[in-house]
Amino acid sequence: MNQVVDFINVNRDRYVDELKQYLAIPSISALPQHAGDVRRAAEWTADALRSAGMQNVKLFETEGNPIVYGDWLQAPGKPTILFYGHYDVQPVDPVDLWTTPPFEATERDGELYARGAADDKGQVFMHIKAVEAFLKQAGSLPVNMKFFVEGEEEVGSAHLDDFVRAHKQELAADVVVISDSPMFDRGVPSICYGLRGLAYFQIDVRGTKTDLHSGSFGGAVANPAFVLAQMLAQMKDRGGHIKIPGFYDDVRELSEAERAEWKKLPFNETKYRKELGAPKLFGESGFTTLERVWARPTFEVNGLLSGFTGEGAKTVLPATAMAKVSMRLVPDQHPEKIAKQFQDYMSKVAPKTVEVKVTRMHGGKPWMAEFDNKFVRAAGRAIEKGFGKQPVFNREGGSIPVVSTFQEELGVPSVLFGVGLPDENAHAPDERLDLGNFHNGIIASAYLYQEIAGLSE
Ligand SMILES: [Zn+2]
Repeated sequence: MNQVVDFINVNRDRYVDELKQYLAIPSISALPQHAGDVRRAAEWTADALRSAGMQNVKLFETEGNPIVYGDWLQAPGKPTILFYGHYDVQPVDPVDLWTTPPFEATERDGELYARGAADDKGQVFMHIKAVEAFLKQAGSLPVNMKFFVEGEEEVGSAHLDDFVRAHKQELAADVVVISDSPMFDRGVPSICYGLRGLAYFQIDVRGTKTDLHSGSFGGAVANPAFVLAQMLAQMKDRGGHIKIPGFYDDVRELSEAERAEWKKLPFNETKYRKELGAPKLFGESGFTTLERVWARPTFEVNGLLSGFTGEGAKTVLPATAMAKVSMRLVPDQHPEKIAKQFQDYMSKVAPKTVEVKVTRMHGGKPWMAEFDNKFVRAAGRAIEKGFGKQPVFNREGGSIPVVSTFQEELGVPSVLFGVGLPDENAHAPDERLDLGNFHNGIIASAYLYQEIAGLSE
């Protein structure tokens, strides 16, 4: 192991130079004019896997962008890790807000600035280099490895579920490792073991055929804007508790151990509030801010539209009103069941004076690894060795749908092994990656394989 770590330390600058080449490819999956660049990034990823010593490296064609695959399966009796990441990136607009061009990776103050630096090329590359160090230095890996790097993550991974379903054999593994998330804070490495799910809806309310004059007709018919506001007001009480019947039935209560662990986290509520610019924080009573965001479900209005919103005054009685609403779900809530409960409750609170249509949009299941899952703990030890510091164990308020896909289709748990930072501007101008974290991340990845290999003994 020492030799492997020495190799990583010696090659530090070379890794950064190579990563800059990877980041120079504008593989923006959302923009059709970059289709050629997206393919070039797939080929670049495949070449990097090949030169690291991975075998059976190939591109799987899908109806969308290719999936890069490579494996090394010469460790009989040892666990198999399926590494998942993505080589596509977000668009760069507004490009004039970038300090340096997004596809000319530039170092400043120990950080590498470029689109894709943190999300996710830098983190994919970190694992490729950890594998390379083992194969070049020891001639073998302590575990079996499969790489699965897709090119449609930033546009919703439309072809991923079908692909996984059709390639269960090739993707079979003991654990999935995903490096596509931030750590808790600068200097506070973390392992994330839980994510929230999502249920998203559009509500359309119609009162009359057309907009009406509020003088001639006001008072005679219901106003859809008002009706919608009243309906939405019945979704939550003043304490932030959601009133949809049955909504909390399947919510897994926080364990005392988890609550105690989270209380120890270096979280400054005042700083958090000030950064958000909120006069006062608000959430479900009886829970702390981190508990509200990581372990409690929400109901939020994402958008509202009705009537006259231009300059000046127009005495109109709108014919329609529309809202987009979504719920973040926690284990063990199920998006299908929640959708039905929500739709039933909506029909109950909708008055007969209007027509209400509820359209279900996308959704996703929540996910959580057991708090003391052996792979999660192994990842914790690897982070400690790579970063010289014990990680904290946290959950995230957001969603990574692929985690549920792997759990359901392959029956494999995931470990979220992210080394980005929460302020590294993934999806925004001046995206960057801390090169210290990148370097420590390569070492931690190498230790991760070693730790997971040890689980079979
Ligand atoms: Zn990502």
